Amino acid sequence: MTAIAFIGLGIMGSPMAVHLVKAGHAVAGYNRTPAKAEPLTAAGGRAAESIADAVTGAEVVALMVPDSPDVQDVLTGPGGVFEHAAPGTLIIDFSSIRPDVTRELAEEAGRRGLRYLDAPVSGGEAGARNAALSIMVGGDADAFEAARPVFEAVGRTVVHVGPSGSGQTVKAANQLIVAANIEALAEAVVFLRAYGVDLEAALEVLGGGLAGSAVLAQKGANMAGHSFEPGFRIELHHKDLGVVTSAAREAGVVLPLGALVAQLVASANAVGDGALDHSALLRGVERLSGTA
Ligand code: NAP
Repeated sequence: MTAIAFIGLGIMGSPMAVHLVKAGHAVAGYNRTPAKAEPLTAAGGRAAESIADAVTGAEVVALMVPDSPDVQDVLTGPGGVFEHAAPGTLIIDFSSIRPDVTRELAEEAGRRGLRYLDAPVSGGEAGARNAALSIMVGGDADAFEAARPVFEAVGRTVVHVGPSGSGQTVKAANQLIVAANIEALAEAVVFLRAYGVDLEAALEVLGGGLAGSAVLAQKGANMAGHSFEPGFRIELHHKDLGVVTSAAREAGVVLPLGALVAQLVASANAVGDGALDHSALLRGVERLSGTA
C-alpha cells in the first residue's frame, strides 16, 4: 500500500483516484472544487482540504489538471507540491502538457530531491473509468519501475518511452492522430448522410474493416446521435494541437494535415464549441457543408 496524493479530480482524475483506492492504496485527493471529491470519498479515499494537506506524508503525488500553467501552479505556486513534498517523493504528472515545460519542472524537482515522471494518458473517459488507459511515460527507468503499481491500477498499456518529456511528445503525436481520425470520421458521416445511407449500418460495416478505429468505436454513436457531452473537450484538444504544431516547428518538421486539423479545431473552439466533446468536430463539417 502506497500513500498517494491525487490532485485534480475531474473527468479523468476522479475515476483514476477511485481505481487507486480499489487497488489498496491510501489516497488523499485534492480538487479546487471540493464537490468533485465525492466519488473518491465514497470509494474509501480521503478528501484533502489543500494541496499541502494532500501531499504531507505522501510517497507519490499524482496530478491530472488541464494545461501547462495549471501544472506549474500546482507544483511551484505558493502552497504547492514543491513546498510540501518530502525529499524522495515521486511526482507523476498524468496531465497532457508541453514537453519543454515538463523538462523544466523535472529539473526543478530533481534539484529539490524529488523524482518526476511525465505520464500522459490516452483512452478517454471510458479508458479512465475502466482502468484501461494507455500511459506513455517519460523519466528515469528507476522512477518508472517504482511507479509501476500506480500505473497498473489505472492503465492497461504502460510503456516507458524515454527520458523526461518523452511521454508528452508521444502524447502530442497521439493527439495529432486522434484529431485527424475524428475529422475524417466526421466528414464520412456528413458524406453518408448526404446520400441518405443508413448511418448505423454504415458505421457497423466500416468498423469491421480497415476504416475501423478506436475513434469510430467510441465516437461513432456520439456523431450519429448528435450528442456531444464531454468526454474530451474541444478546448483541451485545441491546447494539445498547439503543443503539436509548436513542437513540430521547433523540430523543423512539417505536418500539413496536423496544421489543417489544428485550424479546424481552433475554429470549433472560436465559434463556441470548446466545452463540447471533440466528436463535435462534426458540427464544423456540417457548417462548412451548409447542413448544420
Ligand atoms: P477536467 O475534467 O477539466 O479536470 C481538470 C481538473 O483539474 C478539475 O478538477 C479542475 O478543478 C482541476 N484544475 C484545473 N485547473 C487547476 C489549477 N490551476 N489548479 C488546481 N486544479 C486545477 O479535465 P480532464 O478531462 O480530466 O483532463 C485533465 C487532463 O487530462 C488534461 O491535460 C487533458 O488534456 C488530459 N486528458 C483528458 C482526456 C479526456 O478524455 N477527458 C483523455 C486523455 C487525457 P475544478 O473542478 O475546480 O475546475
